[in-house]
Amino acid sequence: MGRRRRKVVKVRRRKLPELFLCPRCGKNTVKGTIDKKRNRAVVICSNCSLNGIFPAKPQMSEVDAYCLFTDSYYEGKLQEEVAVE
Ligand SMILES: [Zn+2]
Repeated sequence: MGRRRRKVVKVRRRKLPELFLCPRCGKNTVKGTIDKKRNRAVVICSNCSLNGIFPAKPQMSEVDAYCLFTDSYYEGKLQEEVAVE
């Protein structure tokens, strides 16, 4: 009964910005940001600079923005050049 229980160490997760897979370069470097003030969602790949800006909907999350981003990419709607610095 005198067993010592191992203390469970909880790993604290730091809240990092979520990164997604880029449909063009295939790296996990796509970041989605919801700009609530300007009512838009900005998604950009920090590796190849592929980016898209979308009108933000209420309750929109970064993941939703990323989905729009990939859809637009496959539809050929995304710009090749950097529009967001
Ligand atoms: Zn990329």
